Amino acid sequence: MDKLGSSTKRALVIGGGIAGIQASLDIADAGYEVLLVEKTPSIGGHMLQYSEVFPTLDCPQCIGTPKMVEVGQHSNIRILAYSEVESVSGTIGDFTVRIRRRATHVDWDRCNGCGLCLQKCPVKVPSEYNCFLPFDNRGAIYIPFAQAVPNKPVIDAQTCRYFKYRRFMEEGEESKKPPECRICEKVCPLGVIDWEQQDEIVEEKVGAIVVAAGFDLMDKGEIGEFAEGRDIINGLEFERILCPSGPTAGVVMRPSDGIEPREVVFISCVGSRDPELGVPYCSRVCCMYLAKQALLYKHAVPDGQAYIFYMDQRTTGKGYEEFVRRAVEEYHVMYLRGRVSKIFRDGDRLRVQGADTLSGRRVDISCDLVVLGMAMMPSAGFKELARKLGIATDEYGFITEIHSKFRPMETSVPGIYVAGTAQGPRDIPDSVAMGSGVASKVLDLFSRDGVGSPL
Ligand SMILES: Cc1cc2nc3c(=O)[nH]c(=O)nc-3n(C[C@H](O)[C@H](O)[C@H](O)COP(=O)(O)OP(=O)(O)OC[C@H]3O[C@@H](n4cnc5c(N)ncnc54)[C@H](O)[C@@H]3O)c2cc1C
Repeated sequence: MDKLGSSTKRALVIGGGIAGIQASLDIADAGYEVLLVEKTPSIGGHMLQYSEVFPTLDCPQCIGTPKMVEVGQHSNIRILAYSEVESVSGTIGDFTVRIRRRATHVDWDRCNGCGLCLQKCPVKVPSEYNCFLPFDNRGAIYIPFAQAVPNKPVIDAQTCRYFKYRRFMEEGEESKKPPECRICEKVCPLGVIDWEQQDEIVEEKVGAIVVAAGFDLMDKGEIGEFAEGRDIINGLEFERILCPSGPTAGVVMRPSDGIEPREVVFISCVGSRDPELGVPYCSRVCCMYLAKQALLYKHAVPDGQAYIFYMDQRTTGKGYEEFVRRAVEEYHVMYLRGRVSKIFRDGDRLRVQGADTLSGRRVDISCDLVVLGMAMMPSAGFKELARKLGIATDEYGFITEIHSKFRPMETSVPGIYVAGTAQGPRDIPDSVAMGSGVASKVLDLFSRDGVGSPL
């Protein structure tokens, strides 16, 4: 650890999505140590879940994985996956951070990621990485996705048969005793399964902190009956269905019965721009990702029909307007300006009713699948994280910058910076730009003797 004056020249990055990855790489490439804390078992964030990314339709696994591997192999970066910040004290240049490393029940230092345990685990439960879609399951011991970094498994104690057996032995009824299992332990050639492993708290000193903890989508439940039903899904679920490395290998099928949807209705601004739901802001990426998904759906089902209900088009990025035009002109995606008032099941199909405010007509569409462009919200546990860091959030829970024009990456606490969607909805190019921007702030701080002013 490089220390000069009273400043610790080492950074903590919270969140291993694309913003946190970029910030970590830029700081590490300049010669400073980075601790990258990620709450899930792998870095990558949402981008790695997508099928292709607008406006260029790159494969996110192809462009994201090399960056993840670079982070994983960088001599200046230490990834603490499956971990969360427990507490923070101190000030700019001299923070003390306590980090909870959750028990994986696998000795990651000795595991070589051979995957035998994954193949043999008899448990099958829906995968959070695949948004709990019915097409694919994971084991109780699992690696969330093939390109994960680190590529090491974790045991989910809630669903693992052996942990269930242990819980039973502590309090259960003999006649209902579950099997003891321990198959992963039996097949592991290196003996790295560690049933007794406990959460561990590690304490680290850092001089600067970058918060890049990303976003979550609003829960469908919050918009009530409107979205009930297995074939009314959110944009993230549809990304997984479209993704060639996803649970359906990119074959488009609807969740309830696996049929290929012939008509798909996409609805933008679901939750967003709705003061009644407490989300008056625009989620900024839905217009684009719904156009992308409609286009990709047409790639997969050329004779299918895609409809998009929209309030107005917000396509301000470079090449974005042209992208939407392409969806309309080349792929015949039908845009309907207006709101949907009702979605209901009609036999084995869905009916979407609403108004086309341009033509002044009522619209009634029979379709197989509905995709909702749900509001982007601060990620789960964000409020608690902000409280631990002592930083201010806005009324919706996103991190507040101290000056929206001139200091957009600095939080209310000197030495703590924000990057990506943790500050508010934005696309990948903006998140990456912010990751680099925040890194330059950290490097500026580290270039000073002692702490000084962060300005
Ligand atoms: C359906 C959909 C499709 C999209 N398609 C595109 C597209 O095609 N092109 C485009 O430019 N943009 C697209 N976007 C926007 C894109 O997803 C975001 O711009 C990008 O993911 C933001 O990256 P991020 O690093 O800020 O956040 P995230 O990707 O959310 O990453 C945040 C990371 O932080 C971790 N984390 C969260 N809380 C904590 C914590 N307390 N401690 C430690 N780690 C934590 C998370 O697990 C995650 O790994 C799309 C968005 C959606 C919803």
